Amino acid sequence: MTELVLRSPLAGWSSPPEEVPDEVFAKRMLGDGVAVDPVGNVLHAPCDGEVISIAASRHAIALRHANGAEILMHVGIDTVGLAGEGFELLVRKGERVHAGDPLLKFDLDLLARKAASLVTPIVVTNGDRFRVVGARVNRTVAVGDELCVLESMGAAAIETVAGGAPVVTESVVVRHAHGIHARPAAMLARHAKTLPFPLEVRARGRGADPRSAVALMSLGIRGGDELVIAGFSPAAAGAVAELARVVRELESMPVRESAAPPQPAAPRAADGSLRGVIASRGFAVGPTYHRQSAEIVVAEGGGGADAERAALSAARAGVRAKLEQRARVGGAAGEVSEAHLELLDDATLLAAAERALAAGKSAGFAWRFAARDSARALEATGDALLAERVDDLLDLERQVLIALGHDAGATQPIPRGAILLARDLKPSELIDVAPGTLAGIALAAGGPTSHVAILAGVMGIPMLVAVGDELLGIVGGTPAILNADAGTLRAAPPAEVLAAAERELVQRREARARDLAAAQRPCRLASGERIEVFANLVGTVADATLAVQQGAEGCGLLRTEFLFLDRACAPDESEQVAAYKRVADVLTGKPLVIRTLDAGGDKPIPYLPMPAEDNPALGLRGIRTSLWRPDLLETQIRALLRAGDGCRILLPMITDIAEVRSVRRVVEEQGAKLGLPAPPLGAMIETPAAALLADQLAAEVDFLSIGTNDLAQYTLAMDRGHAELAARIDGVHPAVLRLIGAVCEAAAKHRRPVAVCGGLASDPDAVPLLLGLGVTELSAVPTAIPRIKALVAAQSLSACRALAQKACALPSSEAVRALLQAPRTEEVAS
Ligand code: PEP
Ligand code: MG
Repeated sequence: MTELVLRSPLAGWSSPPEEVPDEVFAKRMLGDGVAVDPVGNVLHAPCDGEVISIAASRHAIALRHANGAEILMHVGIDTVGLAGEGFELLVRKGERVHAGDPLLKFDLDLLARKAASLVTPIVVTNGDRFRVVGARVNRTVAVGDELCVLESMGAAAIETVAGGAPVVTESVVVRHAHGIHARPAAMLARHAKTLPFPLEVRARGRGADPRSAVALMSLGIRGGDELVIAGFSPAAAGAVAELARVVRELESMPVRESAAPPQPAAPRAADGSLRGVIASRGFAVGPTYHRQSAEIVVAEGGGGADAERAALSAARAGVRAKLEQRARVGGAAGEVSEAHLELLDDATLLAAAERALAAGKSAGFAWRFAARDSARALEATGDALLAERVDDLLDLERQVLIALGHDAGATQPIPRGAILLARDLKPSELIDVAPGTLAGIALAAGGPTSHVAILAGVMGIPMLVAVGDELLGIVGGTPAILNADAGTLRAAPPAEVLAAAERELVQRREARARDLAAAQRPCRLASGERIEVFANLVGTVADATLAVQQGAEGCGLLRTEFLFLDRACAPDESEQVAAYKRVADVLTGKPLVIRTLDAGGDKPIPYLPMPAEDNPALGLRGIRTSLWRPDLLETQIRALLRAGDGCRILLPMITDIAEVRSVRRVVEEQGAKLGLPAPPLGAMIETPAAALLADQLAAEVDFLSIGTNDLAQYTLAMDRGHAELAARIDGVHPAVLRLIGAVCEAAAKHRRPVAVCGGLASDPDAVPLLLGLGVTELSAVPTAIPRIKALVAAQSLSACRALAQKACALPSSEAVRALLQAPRTEEVAS
């Protein structure tokens, strides 16, 4: 295997690509590599090679090493807009350079003032032929220090352009202001790779394979230039037209290169705690423990395609048997295993592995190549939910490699009661940890909706994600306090703070045991008013069973979209009926509120091709998606009608009564056809529009349910998935509270029950506030129910009302949080 060491072209701080504040680099659209935040002002050659491209605005240089590796260095972010100002070239295109030779000088101060960032990605752009291993990141580097190694993967996956005389051509004028620089080139290359014919892009007297972003950039195409797209057979006409369309669309592409929000570590709390995003609530005290899954070493060459193919197939069969066994056990681990089973036989994955096997690679090498190829494609979609499935792919890669006999690397047993710190964690790694071992988990990266986060919630392990890389600097064995209710991790606290946390832990455990013992009783306020406490479910028998054990009096929100995700087509009517009935059976006659499909926005459904949307959260989502696809709505309504007596229908993302009336018509029509009565119909209050029109909606429906996650998102105009805003998007903001109060008033006027099924109902601090605003039902995550029921039983309505009144008059969510944490002197039952 050929290896090439890349040396740092700059002095500074090295980091992984995902920390570059530009999605082109963060999502590795141009390739994998390392980024350096420079402290010096001269860019040096990272290896020997030929200068193959210099951006017209002098901010980016690409080299080609003799082994074919193409390395792009892009100085700063958004620097194309400087049009060369502050850059001085020290080499010319075509020149041969040696590692360490100076290539480019730049004005560090000017860039610091005018560019979005100084961070300089160094990426290998022909990632189909070379992969980056051993990246040395999160450290100070000097010019010439080893940054990473490029390993050759053998034959190029992209063949060279077919050549010959063009048969079909189309010319297009590039309207994008800065021409074909990094971002447009990455986008064109991504499209070109999906086209079934090799094409050529010609401009300025030269030609390039559009599947290579570097080749495109090296044409030096500027805004206003004309380029010609050529195909080499009549059948390629469609592909030519398609690529021309993409070039034309570049005009509307924003000139600013950075689209992704930067992902710095969240600021530390005043006491020095690290902050993270809450993925599973709870509190833990214990020593920290680092588990780094070592990269499994795999030989490239195989012992003959047939033997390697047979070995891969036997390893997959072994993994399949293990996954099927786990899937049969059910629960969250079973669900993850089912997702892995789907991937294990994925046609794209198998085709990629077969290509590598046919090229003489080993079974392990072929499987890794296939998994990483698909992982890159998922990441490049830019879709947060799909990108989270990358974990599943990498997890499956590891499982198959271990089944092939590769050494997974010796991992120390996890000490009991430890807080696991890791960059990321794979679902199977968590499943493999014996129950009761981990006290908590904190991840530097990760998302709160990933499979591993769902698993941690079901296993009752407190967990924070997106804490930032500072987390990884905490020495293993350091005592730490993980407060996954407040979103903080405090390492090495003073002895008295640690002792207090340990006391709190004991108190919490005792309180939890008491709460659970009392959880099966119907829930009433101390002042006597009945408050129903329901559970939010994702529709598995396991979570419904857990909810009943925890004292749920019914299900206040069954998120049916989980039934529609991670599959190739929508579930048909009978599959839906069976799924809803399974949950109803576990609830044995308790109320079951089933929400119609809440697709779109942050919950895209792969087989539901939505029109392209600039702003999906404000686009076709929730009830709008269902009304846009009446076939899906009709099938779901029929299934809900057939699911049984206790079922109620809840409609997501309602904005006015016209939407409710449209659905009611479908319910009545289908009910008449089936000879079944219409079940109660409810509207979710998730938009300010619905909250402001709640009196009209209350008159129209049988019940209201407030989705505080979305209501906060749309009221505060803060994306609920935005890592940087995560700490600020809080449903106790007075603006949201006032809307909730108005909804409760409207519901009371029309004598309709009003529930909260968003995250606020699982937040013990917020519960008295919700009750004081007039909420009559809470639907929480199953494990939070015992605490919530005990809390409700300790409140009096008058004290809750007084608290709510005060909170609504405050100016910010921080002020409301302070009020909620302050000791209360009003009448509260003991
Ligand atoms: C909400 O928005 O509060 C809600 C319950 O719906 P979801 O979180 O599924 O969007
Ligand atoms: Mg919602």
